[in-house]
Amino acid sequence: MTDNEKYIEQYFAKANLQLNELQAGRFLMFYERLVEKNKVMNLTGITEFDEVLQKHFVDSVYGLEEFVSKASYILDLGTGAGFPGIPLKILYPETEFVLVDSLQKRLRFLEEVKVELKLDKLSFEHGRAEDLGHDKRYREKFDLVLSRAVANLSSLSEFCLPFTKVGGCFISYKSGACEEEVSSAEKAIGILGGKIEDIRKFMLPESDISRSLIIIRKTKETKKQYPRKAGIPLKTPL
Ligand code: SAH
Repeated sequence: MTDNEKYIEQYFAKANLQLNELQAGRFLMFYERLVEKNKVMNLTGITEFDEVLQKHFVDSVYGLEEFVSKASYILDLGTGAGFPGIPLKILYPETEFVLVDSLQKRLRFLEEVKVELKLDKLSFEHGRAEDLGHDKRYREKFDLVLSRAVANLSSLSEFCLPFTKVGGCFISYKSGACEEEVSSAEKAIGILGGKIEDIRKFMLPESDISRSLIIIRKTKETKKQYPRKAGIPLKTPL
């Protein structure tokens, strides 16, 4: 391992995450591509090595083990520069992932990352959740749907629950204080066939960053009228 790879390995180890050499190498390559491409394209406000390791890489995967290890088909909705999808893909190379975003140029960057990191069982879909949620290839097909920093929980539930299989899970990454957001989304979640199962709160290891994971179980099919037309879920949340 190179020094930088060792550093990444040790960084993850502090969060109780064991990386092998291939995984450490892939994280390093992803970091390098991200920072390089960020000079010509708006991908992230965070570029300093330690900060990316913590706020993007570890944050994407921390606390998800229990859910990701049980799922065989996972969607990352609004992946942006690849979060949480790419870090999870690096940790779980055998699991099938689809990364969705409405911005084509971000997905083009991720296509390059996929080739460079030699990742497989990974595909990208360009489009808006409001449209793709009606696509038969994707509707109610995923064991696990994840989304970080995309929309408020009510709107996000209308984006994500249509993709989630009955019996599967939708998990929203939120900052620590999410009580109000959760209680005002409860009705929407119910209408869409979901049920709040748990809210996990923790600090990211060796940081003062608080994180909440909102675990929503899909208990019933989502009615055909959802998601509503593009723009509506954000403008007038259920
Ligand atoms: N998940 C990433 C990116 C957050 S930025 C992270 O945590 O860093 C939000 C991303 O969601 C943007 O890339 C934007 O293009 C995408 N997005 C916003 N609304 C969307 C929608 N309705 N359907 C699909 N993607 C959407």
